[in-house]
Amino acid sequence: MITIDRAKFSALFFVKETSRKLILILIIMPFRFVTPTQRLALLTFLISAIYVMRKLRPGLAKKALSLLTCSKKNHDQLEYAIVFHGGAGTIATNIDSTSRYEALIRVLRESSKYIQEQIKKGKESLTACDIAEYVVILLENEPLFNAGKGAVFNIAGLFFFIVLKKKIKMFTNLLLKKLGKHELEASIMEGKTLNCGSAALLRHIKNPIRLARDVMTCTPHIMLVGEGAEEFASKESDLVSYRPRTFHELVDNTYFSTEYRNQQLKESRANLQSSQDENEGKTDQVTEKIEINGNEHIQEKSTENGFGTVGCVVMYKGSVAAATSTGGRTNKMCGRIGDTPIIGAGNYAGEYCAISGTGFGEDFVRNVTAYDCHARMKYLEMDIQQAIQSHINESFKPDTGGMIGVDRYGNIGIGMNSSGMYRGWLTSKNKSIGCVAIWDQAIDVVTE
Ligand code: ASP
Repeated sequence: MITIDRAKFSALFFVKETSRKLILILIIMPFRFVTPTQRLALLTFLISAIYVMRKLRPGLAKKALSLLTCSKKNHDQLEYAIVFHGGAGTIATNIDSTSRYEALIRVLRESSKYIQEQIKKGKESLTACDIAEYVVILLENEPLFNAGKGAVFNIAGLFFFIVLKKKIKMFTNLLLKKLGKHELEASIMEGKTLNCGSAALLRHIKNPIRLARDVMTCTPHIMLVGEGAEEFASKESDLVSYRPRTFHELVDNTYFSTEYRNQQLKESRANLQSSQDENEGKTDQVTEKIEINGNEHIQEKSTENGFGTVGCVVMYKGSVAAATSTGGRTNKMCGRIGDTPIIGAGNYAGEYCAISGTGFGEDFVRNVTAYDCHARMKYLEMDIQQAIQSHINESFKPDTGGMIGVDRYGNIGIGMNSSGMYRGWLTSKNKSIGCVAIWDQAIDVVTE
């Protein structure tokens, strides 16, 4: 194994540093200066080496071949590349998108400022994870997105309305303290080390991504959920064996509520209700039938009601990281956990790339989406865009959602099979111009 890794290293080194001529000279030279027997032995060795390599590491064999033909793609190594998203879904083109573009531009500019400042300070310890965490905190603090402030309501939000109507506020508060109308989740992962952390069923943590990072950094575990996770975050706790980097801001569950999400919950309930009652199970433009274990269920299509998860993938100095945070799906059952905190499903970073997803979480979990994209790059030698697009084409049902990715060189990949995805990106190639987009057309944004 060690020999193969070394061989791989040398191969990569050669590909980068030498020209075709030099490689040919290196191959031909021994043939000129050895005896016929030695030549035969060398030839046999080379053929067996390639044969063994093809069996054990087909990717590496391909690389060796591309070394001879010099067909390897030339990658420029960027200093950094950042892509973020604020959710994918059927985003109507007739909406007033001004405030949404403004939010994306704010996040883009803040991210750019942060990274420039950190680099200027010469912060040696700066990592791709630091940047990804920072950008996701910005997105969590934007009320328009479904993460942190502005997270969607789960089914307990319905009781809130019913009881609110009857003006029995005290009872509501008691009930909701127990249930929580918003349950948040997040995860973060570092490609080089495969270190990762995740947290779910959070009801009082202002910035779930920070907690996920603390699970990764300060505990030997990968995932903490519910009360245990919040206990770990809290200053008062005596019950935990590990402490976070700094204590977390705990907020009331109502901190996450916004009028926009209230409205969506109502619409979502109404859509489902009308499909179930009036149309006797028939579906319309906003709902669809799905079959699970032979039983038919009606669920909302990927309208904006359900989505808005946020995520960020970063490449910094050759290392990648992915961070994703969400309130889940509108009207979800209490206790439901989606793809976002499941490492490999909605979020993954490995040696080759980092991926963050948004869309129907259950489908991302079924297809182990984020990891599969990484595997496509690793084993099938796809580039980041091919990896994302081929996964979408082969595994997603219509309107499942989208993904953003970045490889270790800083190449960016973005794909979706829904009508839109809130997103933005910037790279060190052109520090002063970044891009934001909702539908197909991207808009250039001056970042400085
Ligand atoms: N993937 C998220 C979930 O299912 C929802 C989203 O991306 O908006 O929890």
